[in-house]
Amino acid sequence: MVLSKTASESDVSIHSTFASRYVRTSLPRFKIPENSIPKEAAYQIINDELMLDGNPRLNLASFVTTWMEPECDKLIMASINKNYVDMDEYPVTTELQNRCVNMIAHLFNAPLGDSETAVGVGTVGSSEAIMLAGLAFKRKWQNKRKAEGKPYDKPNIVTGANVQVCWEKFARYFEVELKEVKLRDGYYVMDPVKAVEMVDENTICVAAILGSTLNGEFEDVKLLNDLLLKKNEETGWDTSIHVDAASGGFIAPFLNPELEWDFRLPLVKSINVSGHKYGLVYAGIGWVIWRSKEDLPEELIFHINYLGADQPTFTLNFSKGSSQVIAQYYQLIRLGHEGYRNIMENCRENAVVLKEGLEKTGRFNIVSKDDGVPLVAFSLKDHSLHDEFEVSDYLRRFGWIVPAYTMPPDAQHVTVLRVVIREDFSRTLAERLVFDIEKVLHELDQLPSKLTTAAKVTAVVDEKKVRNGAVKKTALETQREITDVWMKFVQARKTNGVC
Ligand SMILES: *Cc1c(COP(=O)(O)O)cnc(C)c1O
Repeated sequence: MVLSKTASESDVSIHSTFASRYVRTSLPRFKIPENSIPKEAAYQIINDELMLDGNPRLNLASFVTTWMEPECDKLIMASINKNYVDMDEYPVTTELQNRCVNMIAHLFNAPLGDSETAVGVGTVGSSEAIMLAGLAFKRKWQNKRKAEGKPYDKPNIVTGANVQVCWEKFARYFEVELKEVKLRDGYYVMDPVKAVEMVDENTICVAAILGSTLNGEFEDVKLLNDLLLKKNEETGWDTSIHVDAASGGFIAPFLNPELEWDFRLPLVKSINVSGHKYGLVYAGIGWVIWRSKEDLPEELIFHINYLGADQPTFTLNFSKGSSQVIAQYYQLIRLGHEGYRNIMENCRENAVVLKEGLEKTGRFNIVSKDDGVPLVAFSLKDHSLHDEFEVSDYLRRFGWIVPAYTMPPDAQHVTVLRVVIREDFSRTLAERLVFDIEKVLHELDQLPSKLTTAAKVTAVVDEKKVRNGAVKKTALETQREITDVWMKFVQARKTNGVC
C-alpha cells in the first residue's frame, strides 16, 4: 500500500531488458501511458521486474501457504473469473463454501444436532473473520446493555499484549478499547488469571490465541474458560471467549486432539482460522465459525436479492474470487484427517531438527514451545557484539528471509528471530539453514560491533545517572537500555515481518 511518497527524478519511468524488442519508449511509472503496447511487451516488462521479488518458498517469515498441488492450481485457474458473491449464478461454489464451514465446525466440535447446519462464513483471511466475530460480540453486548437500561458506550476487549495487529485494527476501527495483558520475562502469552482480573461489565469478550504469532505457543483456553465461568457466577455477567486459531486451528485438532480449546468449552462462542495458513491454501481465505445461531445477532446479516434469489451475507466486502474457497474444499477432501495429520507431524519434526541444530551451536536461547505451531523462535545468548537484526540481515544474502522483532510490553527488551515451518520447508532445508546460520555467526564474529555507538550512548546515560546519585543498575537493566537505544537506530529500516 502506498499512502504518500514523493517520486524522485529517476523514479519516473521504467525500462525493461528484453522489451526493447517490442517497444523503444520507456513507460511512465506513476501515470497510465498514453499509448498501448503489445501484449508480449507488457508480459516481458512485468516478468523482468518481478524477478527481483524474493522466492516465496524461502520466505520463512510467513505462515501463509506457498505451495499447492498442480491439480489444485488447475482448479484455481479454472475458477479465477468467478465472482464469489454471485451466489445464485454459482450455486455449486456456494455449496462448497457451506460444506467447508460445516467440516471446520465439526473439526472444532461445534455442538450441532444431527440435521443442524453450522453457522459460519468464508472470509478473505483471519483478519476479516476477526472483525466479524468482534462485531458480533460488540453488538450482542450492546443489545444486552440497552435491554438492562445501562450505558453501552464504553465497550472493551481483553487480550494478551501478544495479539496479532488485526485485533488492534478491530479495536481502533470499531471503537472498542483494547485491554492488553502485559507479558513478562520468559512468559510470552496471555496469562488467563490476569486476563480474567481485567474483565469488567463492559468487556465484550476475552480473545485467546491458539498459536501466538510471536512464539507459536497455544494459550491455555481451558483455564481461561474455567476462571471466567467462576467470575461470571460471582458477578452475574456472561462474558465469553473468542479463540483466534488463525494458525493453530488446523494444527491442534490433528496433533493434540485431546487438548480442549474449542467449542467443547462452554464459553467459547466463536473461532477464526486462516485457510491460507495451516489450512494449506494460497493467500486469500479464512473462516469464522459461531457456536450457534444465537451467537450471531440477526441484524448483522444482510439479505441481498438483486443477483437472483435471497442470499444472506455477513462479510465486510462484496465481490471476491471463488478460487480460494474451491481450493480449501480441495484440500479438505484430498487430505482428510490422515493427510493433515501427516503434514503437521512432518512440520513438527522438521521444527525439532531446526531447533536441535540451533541448540547445538550453543549460541541461542529457544523461546518457542515444542507443542505449539511448528516454528522456532530464538534469540542470541550473547548480545554484547551483535544482535538478531544483524543475523537476519546477513541471512538475506543467502536468500533466507528470517524476521527479527522485539516482543510486546513488558518483554520488549527481548528480540527474537523466527522461522515458520511450513509444509514446503523440508528437512534438507532445515539442515541447510542451520549451516548458513553458523556461517553468519562466524562472519559476524570477525566484524567489529555495530553496537558500539549504542553502547556509548548508554554509557553516557549511565555516567549522568551515577553523577546524579542514581543506584547502580543490574546487568539486565543495562542490557535493556542498550536494546532500547539500539532499537532507535534500527527503527528506520525495521519493517515488521511478523504476520
Ligand atoms: C496470521 C494471524 C492473524 C491474521 O490472519 P490473516 O489470515 O493473515 O488475516 C490473526 N491472528 C493470528 C494469531 C495470526 O497468526
